[in-house]
Amino acid sequence: MNTQIPASGLDGLTAQIDLGALAHNTRTVAAYAPGAALMAVLKADAYGHGALPVARAALAGGAAELGVTTIDEAVALREGGVTVPLLSWLSTSGYERAIDADVRLGVSSPRQLAKVVEAARAVGRPAMVHVKVDTGLNRNGVAPAEWAATRDALVDAERAGRVRLQGVFTHLAHGDEPEHPFLDVQRDALAAIVADARAHGLTPDLVHAANSAAALTRPDLHFDLVRPGIALYGGIPVPGRDFGLRPVMTFAAPVILIKRIRAGEGVSYGHSWIAPHDTVVGLIPAGYADGVWRPLSGRIEVAIGGRRFPQVGRVCMDQCVIDLGPDGGGVAEGDTAVLFGDAPGADRAADWAEKLGTIDYEVLTGVRGRAVRTYTGEL
Ligand SMILES: *Cc1c(COP(=O)(O)O)cnc(C)c1O
Repeated sequence: MNTQIPASGLDGLTAQIDLGALAHNTRTVAAYAPGAALMAVLKADAYGHGALPVARAALAGGAAELGVTTIDEAVALREGGVTVPLLSWLSTSGYERAIDADVRLGVSSPRQLAKVVEAARAVGRPAMVHVKVDTGLNRNGVAPAEWAATRDALVDAERAGRVRLQGVFTHLAHGDEPEHPFLDVQRDALAAIVADARAHGLTPDLVHAANSAAALTRPDLHFDLVRPGIALYGGIPVPGRDFGLRPVMTFAAPVILIKRIRAGEGVSYGHSWIAPHDTVVGLIPAGYADGVWRPLSGRIEVAIGGRRFPQVGRVCMDQCVIDLGPDGGGVAEGDTAVLFGDAPGADRAADWAEKLGTIDYEVLTGVRGRAVRTYTGEL
C-alpha cells in the first residue's frame, strides 16, 4: 500500500487513519490497566495502519514501549526516529543488527538464546532479552520441557555479561474469552516460571501476558506491562463488549460512475444479481485486490452521507457496484462511499469479519493494493 497524500487530492480508494482515535484508544486501554506500563503492538505494519505514524500516536496516547514481530520491523522504527524500548519476538537471525539498534529480543528456546549470546559477543554489548514462555498456547515460547535448560543458560549468559534478562512473558490462548478457565492456568504457569527464575538469581523487571482483551478485562493478568494491539486500532477485542474504542481506519472510495439499468438486467460477472426493478447503480473503484473480499459479494452495504446502500453482484478485482435505488438515492458521482470505518451508518471491520468467518485483525491487515493511506487527527 502507498502511504502518501497525492498533491492532486484524493479521487481514489483511501484508508484514512485517524491518529487522534489511535491516541484515544491507547489512553482508553491504559486507563483499564493503571498499574501496568503499556506496550503498543505494531506488528504487520501496525495491523495495516502504518507503523511509524501509529508509533507516534501510540506514544502520544501514553504507550511506554512498542512491540513487533520481526527485527526488520523494529529496526525500521529505530530508523524512523523511535527511541523508546522496542521488543521483537519472532526473528531467529539478524540478532547483531537488533543489539546494535538497541532492540530487545524475545527468545523461545535455548538454541535461540545461544545465537543471541553469540551475537552479543560479536557486537560487544549485552543483549536485552525477554524470555517468552509457552504456558499452553503451543506456538512460540519456551516449551515447559526446555525451561530448566533455558533458565540455566540465561544465568550463565548473564554471568558472562552477554545478556540481561529484562522480561518474562507469555501469550494467551483464550484472551478474548474473559471467563475462560485456561486464563487462570496460564497466569499461574507464568507466575511459577517467574518465581523459578528469581529463585535462580534472575531479576526480570517486566512480566507480561495480556493482549488487548486481557488488558481490558483481566486485571489479574496485567502484571508489569500490557501488550494491546487490536484495541488500539479500534477493533472489537471481546465480542459483544463495548470499551469506548474508536475505529482508526476508514476504508472509503468515491462513486466514480453512475448509470441507470432496467429491471431484469444483470450486474457484474455471472449476473449473480438481477435488478428486480428499474434502478440506478454506482461504481466503486475497490475490489478484492484492495481488500474487499470477493466472498462479501452481495453481502455488504456501504455508507454514503449516512445512508446505507447494498453492494450488488460480484466484487471484481478492482471494482464493485452498489444499488442506489430507483431514485438514485441523491448520490452524485464523486460522493464518498465508506466501506467500513468511522462514518455515520458505516460498517466496522468486525462486521465484515463476521460475514467472512474471520476476525477484524484479518480484515484490517487485508487492506492493500491501490488503497492510499492518509493520516488525520490531533494527537
Ligand atoms: C499480536 C500480539 C499481541 C496483541 O494482541 P491483540 O489481540 O491484538 O491485542 C500481544 N502479544 C503478542 C505476543 C502478539 O503476538
